[in-house]
Amino acid sequence: MMSEEKTTLQTENREVVSRNFIEMEIDKDLKEGVYDTVHTRFPPEPNGYLHIGHAKSILLNYGLAKEYGGKFNMRFDDTNPTKEDTEFVESIKADVAWLGADWEDRLYFASDYFDQMYEGAVKLIKKGKAYVSDLSAEEIREYRGTLTEPGKEDPYSSRSVEENLALFEDMKNGKYADGEKVLRARINMASPNMNMRDPVIYRVAHMSHHNTGDKWCIYPMYDFAHPIEDAIEGITHSICTLEFEDHRPLYDWVVRELEYPHPPRQIEFAKLYLKNVITGKRYIKKLVQDGIVDGWDDPRLVSIAALRRRGFTPESIKMFVDMCGVSKANSTADYAALEYCIREDLKLKSPRVMAVLDPIKLVIDNYPEGEIEWLDAPNNLENEELGSRKVPFGKVLYIDREDFMEEPPKKYFHLFPGNEVRLMNAYFVKCVDYVKDADGNVTEVHCTYDPETKSGSGFTARKVKGTIHWVCADTALEAEVRLYENIVDEEKGVYNEDGSLNLNPNSLTVRTCYVEPSLKDAKAYDRFQFVRQGYFCVDYKDTTAEKLVFNRIVSLKSSFKLPKAN
Ligand code: ATP
Ligand code: MG
Repeated sequence: MMSEEKTTLQTENREVVSRNFIEMEIDKDLKEGVYDTVHTRFPPEPNGYLHIGHAKSILLNYGLAKEYGGKFNMRFDDTNPTKEDTEFVESIKADVAWLGADWEDRLYFASDYFDQMYEGAVKLIKKGKAYVSDLSAEEIREYRGTLTEPGKEDPYSSRSVEENLALFEDMKNGKYADGEKVLRARINMASPNMNMRDPVIYRVAHMSHHNTGDKWCIYPMYDFAHPIEDAIEGITHSICTLEFEDHRPLYDWVVRELEYPHPPRQIEFAKLYLKNVITGKRYIKKLVQDGIVDGWDDPRLVSIAALRRRGFTPESIKMFVDMCGVSKANSTADYAALEYCIREDLKLKSPRVMAVLDPIKLVIDNYPEGEIEWLDAPNNLENEELGSRKVPFGKVLYIDREDFMEEPPKKYFHLFPGNEVRLMNAYFVKCVDYVKDADGNVTEVHCTYDPETKSGSGFTARKVKGTIHWVCADTALEAEVRLYENIVDEEKGVYNEDGSLNLNPNSLTVRTCYVEPSLKDAKAYDRFQFVRQGYFCVDYKDTTAEKLVFNRIVSLKSSFKLPKAN
């Protein structure tokens, strides 16, 4: 998953710092005086929720502005009236802010520049660089030629400047129906680059726009609008993804012909893809509509809103994006790498507490009935700064079902008849008996405890091989935990033959569990390590005053290996 280009990779004990190819280009521009500052932007189209790939673009653009002491703009590319939605504007702002990309007072909407774009088009007409065409979309496609054949001149390309000005104004004034006329840039119908064969730059569309209402019935095309937006805002480096590489000559043509004094420059990098993970808006929209997921922020998705809800931190996402590097070569990253990053980030930050996800009772036969003892428990053995808390202990506890076996295999060190283990932060207990229900399921494990063995008492006379977690039954809080797997079955293949998703029926497991009472006041987005179970985050949506709901962010086990730094 590492890119070919050098990357900046910072982890605990290693630090490999080198410059990516965009930084090298910027260094060169600054050295040669092409620009004397760095000004970047993030330009999403407000037509969906942002995902992990967008996070890369956001952090890259913002990071470069920071690194060079420059500026970063947040700009909604809302020039297309058909697809946009104000709900998405708000969600995108929340996501970008959460990632820490601070646009300060530089929040812009491309639709605010419609007047300048119109003037730009008029300027091109006056220079003889644009003309109004009556060809239909289909005819334009036919005239464009192919990769091996040059295009044919548009029969309307010889209209005079005066005629074009008048027709374009009529287009603006609503005289024509959708598709009846377009404005084309006059570049070169024989260009080997299809994008340069007199591209359409304005079209008629009688549609309301969320910002400009019914003021316009002509709208600029992306390739014409985007360079103008960048130039107006004083962007220096317009960073976009590889699919725009072939559009760069057109980008340069627009800023040159419109004679901007400080033309921006476009640089392309490869998109970030996650292997076997669904990011396409089309698929996610369907999952939402079919009620398979609980909205765009369902914790099984990788929209930024979903990652946030699940419990990922901005720091973990930044670490992941840095690890993937910036490259010109398309590559895919493993979801396991993202999991590695969140574990690294939470390892020292989050308190480690006890929770029992699949409870059975453990009864301590020789412990006094009704007595509750408050024991000291460190919050994070690797980070003393997190302090300690008190946990209640009593005669009846809950332990996890998998920590008891009637007939243990070799090397099983937890509870089984006759075996002694340590209850974490508490005492040694020895299994003396167990109870089963009519179906043969174990419902209760009986033990005796040894008061001499209290944690922290310095007891060394005997050793045990296993330590298990537990929660005191009388004081436990009931909570819901949600355990996740990939929403698609990656082993059998993400897509079915008909192109639909091959859904994983086990992508969500809901359990009622018991947690220590210290979690009573946990708030939305609080994160904990449940010892031996993973990292969990309080769900902001479904947690109520009566019931905590925890999302498992990630389990503790990992098969991920850090890639070698180059
Ligand atoms: P999608 O179709 O995946 O939702 P998009 O390209 O339509 O993405 P835009 O709103 O146009 O979404 O994208 C905003 C910015 O984010 C663009 O600069 C785009 O190049 C960048 N971007 C989009 N997807 C990725 C990705 N997977 N990796 C990196 N950058 C991306
Ligand atoms: Mg797009």
